[in-house]
Amino acid sequence: MAQLELDKVTKVFDDSSGTIVAVEELDLDIDDGEFVVFVGPSGCGKSTTLRMVSGLETITDGEIRLGGERINEQSPKDRDIAMVFQSYALYPHKTVRGNMAYGLQLSTDLDDQEINRRVEEAADMMGIEDLLDKKPASLSGGQQQRVATGRAIVREPAVFLFDEPLSNLDAKLRKHMRTELARIHSEVGITTIYVTHDQEEAMTMADRIVILNDGRLQQVGTPKEVYYEPNNRFVADFIGSPSMNFLDVKLDRDGTGSGTLVGDEVSYKVSDGMVGNLDDASSDLVLGVRPENIRIEAGAPPEKSIEATVDVVEVIGSDNFIYLDLAGQEFRVRTPSEIEPEEDETVTLTFDEENVHLFDARTGDALV
Ligand code: ATP
Repeated sequence: MAQLELDKVTKVFDDSSGTIVAVEELDLDIDDGEFVVFVGPSGCGKSTTLRMVSGLETITDGEIRLGGERINEQSPKDRDIAMVFQSYALYPHKTVRGNMAYGLQLSTDLDDQEINRRVEEAADMMGIEDLLDKKPASLSGGQQQRVATGRAIVREPAVFLFDEPLSNLDAKLRKHMRTELARIHSEVGITTIYVTHDQEEAMTMADRIVILNDGRLQQVGTPKEVYYEPNNRFVADFIGSPSMNFLDVKLDRDGTGSGTLVGDEVSYKVSDGMVGNLDDASSDLVLGVRPENIRIEAGAPPEKSIEATVDVVEVIGSDNFIYLDLAGQEFRVRTPSEIEPEEDETVTLTFDEENVHLFDARTGDALV
C-alpha cells in the first residue's frame, strides 16, 4: 500500500537572514493511488514539502510515513519515490534510453534485458519510442518533459512527485501534457503529488487539492469542495479566476429574523436562514461573491442589488470580464458575451443568496 502520511511535518530554515518556518505542522493523508495537487502562492512551502517527501530536504519536526513506515531517516535513493523536476534534469551526454535506464542500473540488480523492457514499455506509454537513441539537446521542451516522466515511470515507484513539470512549456502543449499525465496516472495508478502555480491545472487534474499559505495548510478538498465551500477568505480568493469579490459589511438585523448586509454603497437583504447561521458571529463580516455568479440586470429588486460603474470590458470570446468601480473598489463580473455594457455606464448588479459567502472580517474564517 502506497499510502503517504504527513504527521505535523515542519521545516525550519536557519540562515544569515534569520529563521524561516517554511512548513508548519502539516498534517496530510494521501490515499494509495490518489492524485493530489499542491497549490499556493510563491514561497508558501510547496517545493519544500515535496523535497522533504523525496528526502532531498531534512525534516525539522514531525513524521512522514509511506505504507505505514517512517521514512524520515531514509536517503532519497532508498525511498520508493520518483521525482520529476521543472528543469527535467536529464543527463546531456546520455541518450534518452540511457537517461531512462540509469536510475534502474544504479539502484536495482535488474538485468539489462529487463531494464530494456521497462524502458521500452515506458517509452511506448509516453509516445517517445522514436527518440530513444537521441540526446536531450536535440529534443523539444515537450519531448524532454516526456523523457523525464518516462524516466520516473520505469522505476515503478510507490509515489510520484512532480514539481511544476509543465511550467516550461507553452500554453497549448501544457494543456496537452496535462491530459497525457492524467491518462498515465489512470493507467499506472501510482500515488502522486503534483505541485503547480496553475490553478486550472490543479482543478482539472486533482482528486484533491491541498492549498497552502505561509507554510500552513489552508484546506484539503476535491476541486468542487474548495471552489464551492472554501474554508476561509484566503482559499476563496486563491481559487477561481477572475477571483472572488469581497465587500466589508455588517449585519443589520431587522427584528423579524431576516436582515441586511450593509457596507459602503452596499445593501443586500438576506433570509432568516442565513441570519440564523450568523447568530454567534462577530458583527464585522466580509461578503464574498464570485464574478460568474453576478448578473447585470436593470430590473433587479433594489434590496438585493448593487450599483456600480463600468471601468473596462474585456472580451474573451464566449464570455466578457467586466471590471467595475464600486465605491472606489474594483468589482469583477463575468457575463455571457452578449452582455456588453458601455464604459462609464452605471449598471445594476445582482446575485442570488445561495452564492453569497460570508467570512469573519477578523479571522477570515468562512461563516456561511
Ligand atoms: P515557489 O512557488 O516560488 O516555488 P514554494 O511554495 O515552492 O514557492 P518553497 O520553495 O517551499 O516555496 O519555500 C518556502 C519558504 O522557505 C520560502 O520563504 C523560501 O524562501 C524558504 N526557503 C526555501 N528553501 C530555503 C533554503 N534552502 N534556505 C532558506 N530558506 C529557504
